[in-house]
Amino acid sequence: MISRIDLRGTAVAPGANGGIDRDLLPRAELDVEAALEKVRPICDDVHHRGTAALIDYAERFDGVRIERVRVATETISQALEDLDPKVRAALEESIRRARIVHREQRRRDHTVQVVPGGTVTERWVPVERVGLYVPGGNAVYPSSVVMNVVPAQEAGVSSLAVSSPPQAAFDGLPHPTILAACALLGVDEVYAAGGAQAIAMFAYGTDECRPTQLVTGPGNIWVAAAKRLLKGRIGIDAEAGPTEIAILADDSADPGHVAADLISQAEHDTLAAAVLVTDSPSLADAVEAELTTRVAQAKHRERITEALAGRQSGIVLVSDIDQGLAVVDAYAAEHLEIQTRDAAQVAARVRNAGAVFVGPYAPVSLGDYCAGSNHVLPTGGCACHSSGLSVQSFLRGIHVVDYSRDALAEVTGHVVTLADAEDLPAHGAALTARFGDALPPAPHA
Ligand code: NAD
Repeated sequence: MISRIDLRGTAVAPGANGGIDRDLLPRAELDVEAALEKVRPICDDVHHRGTAALIDYAERFDGVRIERVRVATETISQALEDLDPKVRAALEESIRRARIVHREQRRRDHTVQVVPGGTVTERWVPVERVGLYVPGGNAVYPSSVVMNVVPAQEAGVSSLAVSSPPQAAFDGLPHPTILAACALLGVDEVYAAGGAQAIAMFAYGTDECRPTQLVTGPGNIWVAAAKRLLKGRIGIDAEAGPTEIAILADDSADPGHVAADLISQAEHDTLAAAVLVTDSPSLADAVEAELTTRVAQAKHRERITEALAGRQSGIVLVSDIDQGLAVVDAYAAEHLEIQTRDAAQVAARVRNAGAVFVGPYAPVSLGDYCAGSNHVLPTGGCACHSSGLSVQSFLRGIHVVDYSRDALAEVTGHVVTLADAEDLPAHGAALTARFGDALPPAPHA
């Protein structure tokens, strides 16, 4: 069901990616570059035909003919009225915890006095209008509404629009729980559009949707490809594609917990990755046995079986936890669980992961919904250079430079010297023009 890779005895060389050759590790052959060519005509079509193109793609990819793409405000509030009270209470708790964490991420403007009379202030300004993508193909993700909207609101974004695929079972509307989550968060601009076409709608705008400046949110390969294609015209967050879990475990881990956690993420997508890294062959055997039993009982066993059997999933045997750390750093998982003795100390040594879950009582599913952390996280190894969604994703830091006459005069000699060294004398002249003969000699000149 799940393949094994034996890295015991493989040398760990110092250097990037934990010193382990990434090609030795399991990973999906996700060809976002190839998908780019498929999504390009879709995005162009939305650019030129707008809503009419979105309606056609809803029919083609989501199997439903819709009349309009923007969801009526009354439909959004009705969804909240119809929401199961238990789901409402759970969503409210998820929102409450996410707010606790994300509110702390707000940044204050910060002024540094460089010299007397010369300051540089970093001012944090929210992006004005953002498009938030909420997936809805294999599964629907009201939790992703929370994870997108809460940091955007805490950052102070003034205009938020949500888009999620139209559902044939709900007359071409996004799933009612997604609409209800939007209502709970006070979002009243929602569109029934999925995949690449939704990203193009946000980038180019249509007669129903004003263009946005930034698009965030997870999605499948078509969503990731469209974000990559339109990056520049719009800002994007990290590529958050098919989900990944890596678990670093030793013989102290409970094989039932490890198997349950691997299955929990394999449930997302046939392309989801589930990777166990362990120095214990007996744990590996016990987890495999647990997987066989548990997958057979799982609701989405076909999807899970395909995900576990794919080349993106596997059990990696290592010599010891030090080599295990090198492997998980090289893999740079979206989600990394540490199920070892002294888990907190081991977790503190991790360099590359979207989010780290420490010990037996912090499973990834907690983070998916109610830890307070964000679940929109970088996949495909991008965690070695990118972060998950946060308040920071929605802010821009603007440097504000304020120098007095004396402070400028004091440094003019150095600026002229550097400008001449770059053969850009007009740069220097822009300063000397302010002083004429009154310019004092540059210090240390
Ligand atoms: P989705 O909303 O991302 O994609 C559905 C859309 O894909 C459809 O509306 C359709 O427009 C488009 N599509 C389907 N087939 C197509 C084709 N052949 N050509 C062009 N477009 C096509 O929903 P999904 O498919 O369920 O994927 C959600 C993904 O998001 C999963 O892989 C899940 O693991 C991932 N996810 C990631 C994170 C993260 O933070 N990394 C969080 C939540 C979910």
